[in-house]
Amino acid sequence: SNAPVKVAVTGAAGQICYSLLFRIASGSLLGPDQPVELRLLEITPALKALEGVVMELDDCAFPLLSDVQIGDDANTVFDGVNLAMLVGARPRTKGMERGDLLEANGAIFTAQGKALNDHAADDVKVLITGNPANTNALIAMRNAPDIPQHRFNALTRLDHNRALTQVAQKAGVPVTDVTHMTIWGNHSATQYPDLFHTQVGGRNAAELIDDQAWVEGDFLPTVQKRGAAIIEARGSSSAASAANATVEHMRDWVQGTPEGQWVSMSVPSDGSYGVPEGIISSFPCTVSGGEYSIVQGLEIDEFSRGKIDASVAELIEERDAVTSLGLI
Ligand code: NDP
Repeated sequence: SNAPVKVAVTGAAGQICYSLLFRIASGSLLGPDQPVELRLLEITPALKALEGVVMELDDCAFPLLSDVQIGDDANTVFDGVNLAMLVGARPRTKGMERGDLLEANGAIFTAQGKALNDHAADDVKVLITGNPANTNALIAMRNAPDIPQHRFNALTRLDHNRALTQVAQKAGVPVTDVTHMTIWGNHSATQYPDLFHTQVGGRNAAELIDDQAWVEGDFLPTVQKRGAAIIEARGSSSAASAANATVEHMRDWVQGTPEGQWVSMSVPSDGSYGVPEGIISSFPCTVSGGEYSIVQGLEIDEFSRGKIDASVAELIEERDAVTSLGLI
């Protein structure tokens, strides 16, 4: 049988991981024939709670789960890992300034970048879910000089999935009819979900829907503010859908995207579409053989250009802030 793939997950006692770990262990990430070994990182005070989560993993008797190791030392937990899903991050608490947030997360992601650099397997792929995800990914990447930069991604797949369903419901079609969605920019309120290349049953979504007032007044704010709407309704955050998106991003990065389709991934910019190198921004991507490529040659109209530029400007600001804090 196949040797287990070693999958590291951080923030493992948190809300997102309470869904995520069970999806990984049941085969949603790597398929029904691939055993996995989980390496779970937590901060010291959360290790007891994490032991409880491991008891539940045990009690699922997952056939594919070959081993689970837990710890609070990234150097040990990341040893030999092939995939790393960095979910744990310091949330913004009351009275915390933006600089404080970047600094707290900077400490986490510099340490984790270095630990991956020194201990992960040569083929490691790193996906950052913990917010501010794009800039946390940049910090980890810049602190791991021996790992190729294209192995660091950040999550915009949840935004992508949210946008797919909004379009499907507006058009009255199954979600599988909606393809070629793109989220551009930062995983934040400035992100730009682009309908101008999206297709509904093979037809251009913007032309089919033909309702710019809906696009600007309804679609964009609904997708951009969906996280807040779920907190308002549920009383806690959108952890299950974030876990689902984290699985889907990594699954597609490993297993590939279907022929003729693309997904949204935040990746280090190579200058495509005028997005400057040196930031991690969301693009339409295809994946083949475990390597992603940014889809080239899409025409960007003036409306989209303005939205992309605004989100990219925010990413540049975040990069400049962590640069001046000495984190990269
Ligand atoms: P969650 O598991 O709910 O969230 C973890 C991170 O994912 C947060 O940064 C959160 O951002 C982000 N996130 C991204 N997309 C979403 C989404 N759609 N909905 C909700 N969150 C999203 O947080 P918990 O507080 O439950 O768990 C975090 C765990 O991480 C804790 O157990 C803590 O101990 C651990 N931790 C571990 C660290 C480490 O390993 N060194 C460091 C810091 C924390 P946002 O804050 O914007 O909601």
